[in-house]
Amino acid sequence: MAERLRGKPVADAMKEDLLKRVEQLKAKGLTPKIGIIRVGANPDDLFYEGGIKKTSDGVGMAYEIFEHPEDIGQEELEKAVRAVGADSAIHGILMFAPLPKHLDEKKIRSLIPVEKDVDCMTLGSAGKVFADDVTGFPPCTPTACMEMLRFYDVPLKGKRVTVVGRSMVVGKPMAMLLLREHATVTICHSRTVDLAKVCAEADILVAAVGRPRMIGRDYVRAGQIVFDVGINADPDNPGKYCGDVDYDAVEPVVEKITPVPGGVGSVTTIMLCKHTVMACEMQQE
Ligand code: NAP
Repeated sequence: MAERLRGKPVADAMKEDLLKRVEQLKAKGLTPKIGIIRVGANPDDLFYEGGIKKTSDGVGMAYEIFEHPEDIGQEELEKAVRAVGADSAIHGILMFAPLPKHLDEKKIRSLIPVEKDVDCMTLGSAGKVFADDVTGFPPCTPTACMEMLRFYDVPLKGKRVTVVGRSMVVGKPMAMLLLREHATVTICHSRTVDLAKVCAEADILVAAVGRPRMIGRDYVRAGQIVFDVGINADPDNPGKYCGDVDYDAVEPVVEKITPVPGGVGSVTTIMLCKHTVMACEMQQE
């Protein structure tokens, strides 16, 4: 039976650390604050927003929601994003994406100041992540995976890590963060030949595919550590969600595995808060 690498103990430890750091900032008259820019009212965005509010409250941070109608014009949204960016009381910015199709999202993302870009929405932040410049915030999900790997003492130096998925939100930055820790990284995608074989060769497997339970028994071997980043509507249980890994098939084989729910997803929101606290600390330096 594999060890379950749960997210909650990691999030609890992070919360304890953040409470102290927020306290120290408050003693200097500063309250770390996140500005959340939302266009429309997508239920997934509202769910995440609720989690951010609760987690921010839990660590003593402030937040402000900037809500805009679905049909907002390009110029108006640009003006609004610039205003949030210029607000010195706001240290971190999260903008829900994708934006409605009539908007030039690339342009709007570029208006977020890099030092407040706590979820890597801008090319400036992505560039810093790829250049190992620690002043750039990587996206929260791969950073949450790294925090979990550290918390559970998973050695990375010299280890073969396969990442399935090459998005800018998870796969690619995940690979860069693993390289920083001297792992030997293979990035796979929909055109990878013999995917199951490449996955089974790894010491650590990170699944960020977006396909429910795609990673099955054939993709793993004994002794592996499996990180499941997937959050998918569960086709077998309406109203529930599942990971990219077929947990029941994989868990009896591997050494350690993150569950879904209760794994990486439980650390992502507090990671956003951590980045905002770090941004606040850095903006005072
Ligand atoms: P994405 O942008 O859709 O990217 C999926 C990646 O998987 C792509 O690179 C794609 O390859 C690859 N892929 C798709 N089908 C494949 C197949 N049959 N074989 C091999 N590779 C395949 O998704 P994402 O935004 O990175 O998200 C990935 C998963 O993580 C989703 O389940 C998402 O819900 C979840 N997620 C979780 C969190 C969290 O907080 N835990 C946050 C963000 C995302 P190509 O590039 O060739 O198309």
